[in-house]
Amino acid sequence: MKAPEFSYVKPGSLGEVFDLLDRHGDRARVLAGGQSLLASLNLRLSEPELLVDITGVPGLSGIAVSGQTVRIGALTTHRQIETSAQIARHLPLLAQAVRNVAHAAIRNVGTFGGSIALADPAAEYPACAVALDATFVLAGRAGERRVKAREFFRGLYETALNPGELVTAGEFPLAGAGYQSVFLELARRHGDYAIVGLAAHALVAGGRISDARLAFLGAGSTPVLAVRAAAAIEGRQPDAQAIAAAQATLAEELEMLADLYSSRATKLHLARVLLGRALGALAA
Ligand SMILES: Cc1cc2nc3c(=O)[nH]c(=O)nc-3n(C[C@H](O)[C@H](O)[C@H](O)COP(=O)(O)OP(=O)(O)OC[C@H]3O[C@@H](n4cnc5c(N)ncnc54)[C@H](O)[C@@H]3O)c2cc1C
Repeated sequence: MKAPEFSYVKPGSLGEVFDLLDRHGDRARVLAGGQSLLASLNLRLSEPELLVDITGVPGLSGIAVSGQTVRIGALTTHRQIETSAQIARHLPLLAQAVRNVAHAAIRNVGTFGGSIALADPAAEYPACAVALDATFVLAGRAGERRVKAREFFRGLYETALNPGELVTAGEFPLAGAGYQSVFLELARRHGDYAIVGLAAHALVAGGRISDARLAFLGAGSTPVLAVRAAAAIEGRQPDAQAIAAAQATLAEELEMLADLYSSRATKLHLARVLLGRALGALAA
């Protein structure tokens, strides 16, 4: 299928973007890397009159470390994240996760902000942002505001973005001393969206795990922070008993949605397998 007819504009400033979004309301859509939006147009899942291409807006791209924060601009591509020495050093969870985002051709143009704004529950960055307690910077005509990742994802493809607002950046606290990260996912083929995945980040000392942030993807309509599983493992070594106790909490905590290929029971089983592997790997 071909996309319906639409107009296209490439403004050179945020002010112009806000003017266009004000004027056209929900008849306009923001275009970043286009890797999800153009596919949805071609499938006629969306029929906007105007695409507002934000790739000409300066200041929205790049990775910068300042103080205790890594800032990732919305237009930073998956490829830039994948090849960044700063991400590898300061956000090893994201460095592991990005290798699972789609295929190389898509990673070359798809953007961080596009993935966050799309809020696919099986996407890698949203779960990492929740595990790492990141904050998103949102900007609109009324100015800038910051929203915690844990409050940003509201429902299936639903976020805290107001009409006319953009994601301009993500701010991630630097990984603290002694923290370890493990990202795991199961997909039908490498590069496909995950069936289930887990972004795990925890303090590990003397083989014991504490302050575990276990964010699942593909396990509900948003990323899910498994707080009961974290409590079950708190202060313990991940031996078979501790892992089983953490795994046992998942049935209550994860609101698994069946998809075309996997039942809820299969997905729950896979989530338990990933949790066991991740807890073992964190303390290894
Ligand atoms: C075959 C295939 C496999 C894929 N596999 C994966 C995968 O495994 N994991 C994964 O995470 N992703 C996957 N993707 C999606 C890919 O990562 C996209 O790049 C990403 O989801 C959207 O980024 P984009 O820059 O292309 O956004 P676009 O397609 O340009 O936009 C996506 C949506 O976000 C909005 N938007 C974009 N930028 C902003 C912004 N800054 N502020 C507010 N709204 C904005 C747009 O209006 C649109 O609604 C896959 C895509 C394809 C085609």
